[in-house]
Amino acid sequence: MSKPFAIGIDVGGTKIAAGLVNRAGEILYRYTTRAHSEQQPEVVIRAIEEAYHCLIKESGVEMTEIEAVGLGFPGNTNGPAGIVLVSSNLPAWNHFPLRDTLAARLGIPVILDNDTNLCAVGEHRYGAGRGARNMSYVTFSTGYGIGIIINNQLYVGHTGTAGELGHVVIDIGGPLCTCGKRGCIMAYACGIGISRMVYEQINAGAETLLRQMVPANGQRISGEIVAEAAQQGDAVAVEILRKAGYYGGVALSMVVEILNPELIVVGGGLTRIGPLLWDPMLAAMREHTQPELWDSVRVVPWQLGDDLGIIGAAAKVFAEAEAY
Ligand SMILES: [Zn+2]
Repeated sequence: MSKPFAIGIDVGGTKIAAGLVNRAGEILYRYTTRAHSEQQPEVVIRAIEEAYHCLIKESGVEMTEIEAVGLGFPGNTNGPAGIVLVSSNLPAWNHFPLRDTLAARLGIPVILDNDTNLCAVGEHRYGAGRGARNMSYVTFSTGYGIGIIINNQLYVGHTGTAGELGHVVIDIGGPLCTCGKRGCIMAYACGIGISRMVYEQINAGAETLLRQMVPANGQRISGEIVAEAAQQGDAVAVEILRKAGYYGGVALSMVVEILNPELIVVGGGLTRIGPLLWDPMLAAMREHTQPELWDSVRVVPWQLGDDLGIIGAAAKVFAEAEAY
């Protein structure tokens, strides 16, 4: 007998967002904490426990009415094995058995996967991907990556890390990426890449408003601030966003050429920048995709927005429950 609720938890780089979700994909109760993925495992686990117990208490729902906890985690995860492979730069996370540790502590089944994979499941089940049999979800945010749905199933690959498109090398010998390689798509097409290009221009002496807009401590500048400069007519900012969109679009052409999906859903915070990023992305995708394949695919924005992390994690719980 299927149970009416799931708890979806999105472990992010700045917060952990959790929600009680029903089978219609609606978040009924929410809980957010300031714990985040760049802290030690024990801190994150305790924050998740607290989120779980607060949601149960606040909603008044019985534990027996909850199918499972779905948990989205950034970085490389092996979902089927329930393991975080690598996360941020904290060695304590390497090969950490997060799913089973949490299931034992909470006393309820836990499903773990990479956050982008779960976002793909969420848009497929409840959002822009409804009815699509073969689709990809692309996250255009701090990082860049895809979740792949093949024949209505999430495809995760041999060790769970399929879809790391952001670390495909597109510029041999190009700028250093966070992964240690050079010239990855992520060195251009994401928040990290945009910030890198801003500092590159400033250091090269470019005349730009961005010089006054970067954080004084040399930290990453957000895509939204770069968009602000672009809207004020700053040519350097416009060009940086064009480049980010362009490389993102080249990456989309790879998705189409390799997977031949009927639909690509593009989400993530950077999509809010709008045409400054979206137009060069579609133009690059069209330029680099064979016409027959270009004609076969639709590219649409996400529908679930900031709730997608929570809803996607719950969607995976419901999808797995139906598979048995
Ligand atoms: Zn990389």
